[in-house]
Amino acid sequence: MQLSNNQYLCANKKYEDADIVIFGAPFDGTSSYRSGSRFAPNAIREASKSIETYSPLQCKDTEDLKIADIGDMELPFGEKIRALDQIKKLVKDILRDEKIPVAIGGEHLISLATIEECYKKYKNLNVIQLDAHTDLREQYIGEKLSHATVMRRVSELIGFQNIYQFGIRSGLREEFALCEKHNTIYQFNKKDFERLIKAIAKNPTYITLDIDVFDPSFVPGVSNPEAGGVCFNTVMTFLEYAKKLHIVGLDLVELSPHCDPSNISSFLAAKLLREMLLVI
Ligand code: MN
Ligand code: MN
Repeated sequence: MQLSNNQYLCANKKYEDADIVIFGAPFDGTSSYRSGSRFAPNAIREASKSIETYSPLQCKDTEDLKIADIGDMELPFGEKIRALDQIKKLVKDILRDEKIPVAIGGEHLISLATIEECYKKYKNLNVIQLDAHTDLREQYIGEKLSHATVMRRVSELIGFQNIYQFGIRSGLREEFALCEKHNTIYQFNKKDFERLIKAIAKNPTYITLDIDVFDPSFVPGVSNPEAGGVCFNTVMTFLEYAKKLHIVGLDLVELSPHCDPSNISSFLAAKLLREMLLVI
């Protein structure tokens, strides 16, 4: 573990005293287009210097939470199995210590490791995916483990009936057929938010947020920009409802800061992370 002096602004505790543990998983080994999400955790920490700990949207302050930022993991380049194993080991320890893991990617594949460990602890785990892409391919360029297959692997773990997808607007015909068969796609509207809350009730829930769920005009710094996405306030409305859930883990993945010279993507991510932390 490489401890970074650069901390996410809202981190106010040491690991031992924290309820929520942020860590960077800077792995982008399977990124197929614009890689660079390995730089996201520190870009978000840097951008967080510009935000307050108080959220006027939620009338809550992260100062009232116990949050540690334990820095970035040192993950092997191009060695996805070993990287996933190392992430699993860390998340296992965090969960054993009765803390909530918050992973900053890295690419979306890293979520497989965190979700797997959460599922080992919480057998009736639900996963909410915010993403432009289905990520349900059986394989991608012959590889079963990649950012494009991650939710398929998650479905094999927890079952399609426990997956809830928001923001989806890209995928293969076969992937959409799976979504339709298993009724996984939800819309960002009041009716579906209420349907979600009713379905999940008090079950342990993991939220995986692929930042390309936003429209590229708000977040151009992603590996695979996909037009037709939502704005910040729409995701905030989702988080309003998510407050009613029992959240046991979170991640924020796929920010590729170098693809956005203006840095607005990292600033949005830093604020988004604050809002996600306050929902826990
Ligand atoms: Mn995506
Ligand atoms: Mn994704």
